[in-house]
Amino acid sequence: MLRHLFRHPLRAILAAASAAVLAAAPARSMSSPAVSPAPAAAPQQAAAAPTHADILRGAYGPYRANNDLLSYHLDVRVDPEKKFISGKNTIRFKMLKDDTRIQLDLHEALNIDKILMGSTPLKYERDSGAVFVDFPQTLRAGRTYAIDFYYSGTPLESGRFGAFAFKKDPAGRPWINTACEGEGASVWWPNKDQWRDEVQNMRISVSIPNNLVDVSNGKFLGKPDLGDGYTRWDWLVHYPINNYDVSLNIGNYQHFSDRLGSLPMDFYVLPEDLDKAKTQFAQAKGMIEAFQHYFGEYPFKKDGYKLVEVPYSGMEHQSAVTYGNHFANGYLERDWTGVGISPRFDFIIIHESGHEWFGNSVSAADRSDMWIHEGWTTYLEALYVEYRWGKADGIKYNNGYKDKVKNQEPIIAQRGVNANPPPDQYFKGTLFINTLRSIVDDDRRWFKLLHDFYQHFKYQNIMTEDVVQYFNQKTGMNLTPMFDQYLRHTAIPTLELKFDEVGQKVSYRWKADETAFAMPIRVGKRDNWQIIHPTTQWNTMSTAQKKDDFEVATDLYYVNVTKE
Ligand SMILES: [Zn+2]
Repeated sequence: MLRHLFRHPLRAILAAASAAVLAAAPARSMSSPAVSPAPAAAPQQAAAAPTHADILRGAYGPYRANNDLLSYHLDVRVDPEKKFISGKNTIRFKMLKDDTRIQLDLHEALNIDKILMGSTPLKYERDSGAVFVDFPQTLRAGRTYAIDFYYSGTPLESGRFGAFAFKKDPAGRPWINTACEGEGASVWWPNKDQWRDEVQNMRISVSIPNNLVDVSNGKFLGKPDLGDGYTRWDWLVHYPINNYDVSLNIGNYQHFSDRLGSLPMDFYVLPEDLDKAKTQFAQAKGMIEAFQHYFGEYPFKKDGYKLVEVPYSGMEHQSAVTYGNHFANGYLERDWTGVGISPRFDFIIIHESGHEWFGNSVSAADRSDMWIHEGWTTYLEALYVEYRWGKADGIKYNNGYKDKVKNQEPIIAQRGVNANPPPDQYFKGTLFINTLRSIVDDDRRWFKLLHDFYQHFKYQNIMTEDVVQYFNQKTGMNLTPMFDQYLRHTAIPTLELKFDEVGQKVSYRWKADETAFAMPIRVGKRDNWQIIHPTTQWNTMSTAQKKDDFEVATDLYYVNVTKE
């Protein structure tokens, strides 16, 4: 299902992508894992031009744009001994124009066994990770087709979380997990590996040796014994889903469950962690209550909510959030934002589950705009703190992120080339959203705006332009220069203050890349703020305060201040 709103013509996006290629514009790009197994959170690297593979993966090219995904049925057999997978994905799609070719993706490390339409084998051409499938007859616009894409091999273990990892649990039993947001889902299964177009629903069937359990996304349907020592675990996802959210988790899992009203909550952990999990995972209920309070109903109710223990820190796999945070509060036992609040809650339960609202329900249509996932979900952490412990703690927690901001490259990466945005998308992202709240300057209005923003875009794939347009329309303000300054430039705005203590005056202006940047801000005395409306031009106000006593509310607005 093409969930994007079509406000940005494909032509423009393709033009941007090809212009980027021609100009070899400096953007950090994520190389194919086969080429460079760099971790997702690699330190600052020299900017590299997008590769041919990046463009094939990142651009919404003509053989992607000519069709609209309807459903997948991924049916895969996993052999833990041989570290081998085999199976097929049945891909249903609707043609949007007449054509004889479509683009799918599968990592080069995996073999294509055959691609069938009905019983007819289809020809295909592989180009790095892309698979161009050719049809003997023209597929007609408006009609629905299905193909079976058979594949096999050993997926490449790569990236920060392993992508597809055949591991053992501490007791030596198989523990096999997928986490492939950076690498792309085509690292382990064939699909249309991009962000814009999502299926409406998906069936996931995972066949594994009888003594193991598979937990995937969606509602558990059953586990028929295949009679050959294997059992097939069947799951049904009732909602649109990002490719990278599709996951399998195979292990000696123990299961326990709970409910929040009519929402089923299921938990899967290793047997030795059962007691710890029963205590720690109790936080999930309060998390869902908090986010339902701000944004509305949990988005994937028919699929339920699951938490699944994994050997890496965690991932937002839709309706089957994966967890590896040591059954302890904070983030990997650290005070994550360093202000004493993070140790009150389990970062992974709160953050990764927050993605159910932002990332999984509201999704970015291009990886370049991933701050829609990460900036917003990081802000959801602060909202969770505010819901539990009040506004002052929420703001304090959020400002703890300042130390992590680098301001070395814009949050929004180059569009259409599979570029990986920098970690500022999380930290600067949430600080910017907190700044927006101060611009709106009315909490009742702010929370209605957040709620309505989520409700308006839920189950859709959007771009930053959609966010900006929505906020402009609902607030009646022109927030575009603010969004642009924080998301499309490296520097944050600086409030320049020039004091004339004898004349009891202070002059002020914004120093910003956006010439139209004009943001109100609170200045003066902390318990009696005065709101001024600086622009990029000098203005003067009278003040009895001396330079050293004159304060700026930098906890409510993420800005630099200079005084002279
Ligand atoms: Zn996240």
